[in-house]
Parts: sequence; structure tokens; C-alpha cells
Amino acid sequence: MFHLALPLRYVEPIYRPPSEAGSLILQATIGCSNLRTRRDPRSPTGHRVERGCAFCVAYQAKPFRARPHAELLAEIDRVAEVVPGASRIFLADGDALVLSTRRLVEILERLRARFPRLERVTSYASPQNLLRKSVDELRSLRESGLTMVYVGIESGDDEVLRRVDKRATSEEMVRGCLRAKEAGIALSLTVILGLAGPEGSAQHADRTAEVLSRICPEYAAALTLMVEPRVPTFEEAVADPSFRPLTVDEALAECRRLIAGMTCEGTEFRSNHASNWLALKGRLGADKARLLETIDRVRADPRSPLLRPDSRRAL
Ligand code: SF4
Repeated sequence: MFHLALPLRYVEPIYRPPSEAGSLILQATIGCSNLRTRRDPRSPTGHRVERGCAFCVAYQAKPFRARPHAELLAEIDRVAEVVPGASRIFLADGDALVLSTRRLVEILERLRARFPRLERVTSYASPQNLLRKSVDELRSLRESGLTMVYVGIESGDDEVLRRVDKRATSEEMVRGCLRAKEAGIALSLTVILGLAGPEGSAQHADRTAEVLSRICPEYAAALTLMVEPRVPTFEEAVADPSFRPLTVDEALAECRRLIAGMTCEGTEFRSNHASNWLALKGRLGADKARLLETIDRVRADPRSPLLRPDSRRAL
């Protein structure tokens, strides 16, 4: 991880995917464009809060804005003088791909010019970001150095997507991701176990497996829903006071059903995020039987050392 002693002006907090732990992080945008200002349902005075997807606590304190372009380019120049050998760069915050293609190309070209050993540039992207760009635009981003995007699919079940306010349908997820894929941009997709609660678990797993199978991304990762203290609460946001998160066994069963339903042999599946009780990693072709067998073994032994204790789970 690059040290904060670098000449960077971060607007905290910063979030990045686990696999970008060693990357230089540059903020091209602040916050997430999916957040909207809403009335706090508990406030008698009509106090307003920033709210995005119902499960997400990131960026609530940071109203969305694009970083001034000249400021970012100047920062790239300054940082390159200190770490010219950086080979991996992650463009933060929540959806840097909301920027115009022209602006992104300028950023990517500046990165290539200043970091001669650059191997990859990645960012988060929403399905909406991807659908607002044509394949040709996305291809120009790829040719300028954008190698992979991380997209939060969360669920393939449209009812779940609507309840958590994802503002994209499963069909839009598929179309956006396939557009990036056609442009040669690699995909790392995340889904959230437990998002539909116990009752909706089987349908959530089946429809999510179906969406992932239609996209066949390079990477598919599962997180497990952790209901963090926030305003409004997850239960309020999804208008379901009786919602409860999955138990360990229910989450493992849902994960098993998801893996069993995915048909893309080349996709690497991971559940190594700290929110999960069980860390798995393997290709859906060669390793699928091993992944399923591991889940079965752990479900048969609730005291398995492979299970992450609750105290060590985190977002
Ligand atoms: S989950 Fe992603 S798209 Fe939704 S509010 Fe959080 S950062 Fe934005």
C-alpha cells in the first residue's frame, strides 16, 4: 500500500477492492453518483441524509463531485516524481467511470506518460456508467490503459435490486458488463450473499448465478451482507422491519447454490472478503467440485477452523 506521505490530497474515507491493496490510489471523483439526498425518516425536523444503495455505508459523508480535472492532472505529475515505478493504479472513488470519456482518456494518457512501468489501471464502475458509453468509447478507454473495472452486481433478482435501490435491473447489469467485455475491459463482479434474507435466498442465488453465467466475467466475488449502523437502517431502507441477515449455515447454503448454478468455466470465484465466514478461491471449471465439497465439509462441522469468527468479520 502506498504511504499517505505521498503528495496526495485524499478526501477520506477511501475504499478500494481487496485486490488493490498494493495499488497507488488516485481520486478521480469524490463519493458515488448513486447517492441522493433524502429525508431522514426518523427526523421530526425533516433532516436530510445522503443515501445510496440500502446496504452501503460508503461515501455517506461525501456528496458526489468530480475532482477538478487540472487538480488531478497536477497531482498525477507530483506523485509520479515520488513513485515513478508504480505499476498498478486504482482510480477512486465509487464510480470514476461516471466521468466523460474525453476526460478519462486524458487521465489515462497522463498516467501512461508519467508512470513508464504501469501495467494496469482499474476503477469501480456502475452498470449505468457503462451503459452511458458506447463500445467504441469503452474501447478507447481500454486502449488508453483502463484494464479492468469492478462492478457491484449485488443480485440477479430484480425484486432485490429494486428493494435495495440499486437503480439498475439485472438486464442492465448484463448489457453494461457485456459492453465492457466487448471493448476488451476485464470484469471483476461482486454479489452480496444474504441480500434477500432467508425467504428470498434460493431465488437470489439462482438469479444471480444466471446473470453471472450470462456475463462470464474474469472474476466473481461474493461478500456477505453486514447490516451496519446507519441512517436510515437497512430495514428502513428496504421497508421491511422483519428483515434478518442469514445465519452462518444459511449463508453457506446460499453460496453453495450460487456456485453450483454458475456455468462459466473460466471465471475465478472468490469469497475472501472479510465479510464472509468462509474464504474460497477457485476456477468455476476446474475447481467447482472442490469449492462445493469444502462448503459441504464446513457445513457439517460448525466448529471448522476454516470459519472466520464473527469478531473478525468486517466490511
Ligand atoms: S454500493 Fe456502490 S453504487 Fe451503491 S451507493 Fe455504494 S458505492 Fe454507490
